[in-house]
Amino acid sequence: MELEKVHVVLFPYMSKGHMIPMLQLARLLLSHSFAGGDISVTLFTTPLNRPFVAASLAGTKATIIDIPFPKNVKEIPPGVECTDKLPMSSLFVPFTRATKLMQSDFERELMSLPRVSFMVSDGFLWWTLESAQKLGFPRLVFFGMNCASTSILDSVFQNQLLSKSKVKSETEPVSVPEFPWIKVRRCDFVKDMIDPKSTTDPGFNLILDQVTAMNQSQGIVFNTFDDIEPVFIDYYKRKRELKPWTLGPLCFASNSLEDGVEEKVKSVWMKWLDEKQDRGSCVLYVAFGSQAEISREQLEEIALGLEESKVNFLWVVKGNGIVKGFEERVGERGMVVRDEWVDQRKILDHESVKGFLSHCGWNSLMESICSKVPILAFPVAAEQPLNAILVVEELRVAERVVATASDGIVRRDEIVKKVKVLMEGEKGKELRKNVEAYGKMAKKALEEGIGSSWKNLDNLINEFC
Ligand code: UDP
Ligand code: UDP
Repeated sequence: MELEKVHVVLFPYMSKGHMIPMLQLARLLLSHSFAGGDISVTLFTTPLNRPFVAASLAGTKATIIDIPFPKNVKEIPPGVECTDKLPMSSLFVPFTRATKLMQSDFERELMSLPRVSFMVSDGFLWWTLESAQKLGFPRLVFFGMNCASTSILDSVFQNQLLSKSKVKSETEPVSVPEFPWIKVRRCDFVKDMIDPKSTTDPGFNLILDQVTAMNQSQGIVFNTFDDIEPVFIDYYKRKRELKPWTLGPLCFASNSLEDGVEEKVKSVWMKWLDEKQDRGSCVLYVAFGSQAEISREQLEEIALGLEESKVNFLWVVKGNGIVKGFEERVGERGMVVRDEWVDQRKILDHESVKGFLSHCGWNSLMESICSKVPILAFPVAAEQPLNAILVVEELRVAERVVATASDGIVRRDEIVKKVKVLMEGEKGKELRKNVEAYGKMAKKALEEGIGSSWKNLDNLINEFC
């Protein structure tokens, strides 16, 4: 009997932090030696995101299809098809809403494709569930989050656990009913989620549509692995109707660390790291992800904290400026990379990098664990405070900075103190030991034939094909 070909459709949301793991999933699927035969992948994006997608999938057989991004959407400047390019983060809601206008073009393209086995699409693109239902194939949802944060967010949202009527102060700790040892606070959450202004609140309704579509999907894909958050994965398996598929760490399927691929021109920051390594110096890597969400005032405190801490640092800054004269003052000790795309996997894998001051985006945390680099958690937005709880309290691979004043700004003294804990203290050594252990487990999870995530991917393909 001839086996039917496995054909997977992927549709990532248009932000770097969501595209990257989905592109890695594409690579993982294409390199998976599946007993049932060949796997083909079709990935959807928009014209202006195509160059990034194509570069990430270079050398693979993935098919890329772009769907025009809707024109003349109120508030969204022309030429913006990726949230990284939005002038304000408040435009996230209209941007995401506008993606629904792509639905008819998307469905037209789907109809011309060979039979689809299943689709993995981003949870932010809630309307893709309807497309899959119309065309009669399963849709799995992917949010780019870990299982712990997804479960906690879901509980807080569904129970309106932190609404103003229930909790008075921004910092009052409240136990999550499903995981009572975990305490959350109002200030850790996006307000649309916990305090809808009315039943017609656009942000609240967008989340509601996404959660409803998530719950009606045929499964959820997590960029995580079983050893790292067993309690939460187990909860999902036992209590939820939505079957979890833990397939990570997806960053191991990134093309950036492939053996034998030499960079044509080595970047100044990689050369700088080489020099530090030659001198036997350690470096703190500082980065806050792909979105520019840090206020100028906070950036200034970080700059002054790094300056006073006296450690070597490589700081990747998106948007805004930093304090005048800063780079001259720190001299050889620091390198600042402004508004450039760096290969973060390569930086974290560099021998000299011994700590990561991170905004706690889940991709960054996974990458740090895979490179066995302990973390200084500095959550800024989205579900980052929940990710910080996971790495600080559950995994003990991270120290955390705390904002002491009510304005939420983390002051320079706190940064100096915690940088020293991470890079020089006894606690830092303990965190390093822990992250090394998780790093080893991470590698094992994807081992062909035996790793938990490898097996999960194999089972997933079998289940839907
Ligand atoms: N990244 C990168 N170079 C940059 C900025 C970001 O490679 O200059 C990558 C980083 O390695 C990670 C992703 O972009 O894979 C950011 O995702 P994360 O979840 O950490 O944060 P987000 O950007 O979504 O807030
Ligand atoms: N681009 C754009 N709008 C978008 C996404 C990309 O104009 O929503 C442009 C971007 O300015 C750049 C090219 O497309 O010229 C590649 O963008 P990417 O984000 O991949 O790289 P970068 O902006 O870091 O150069």
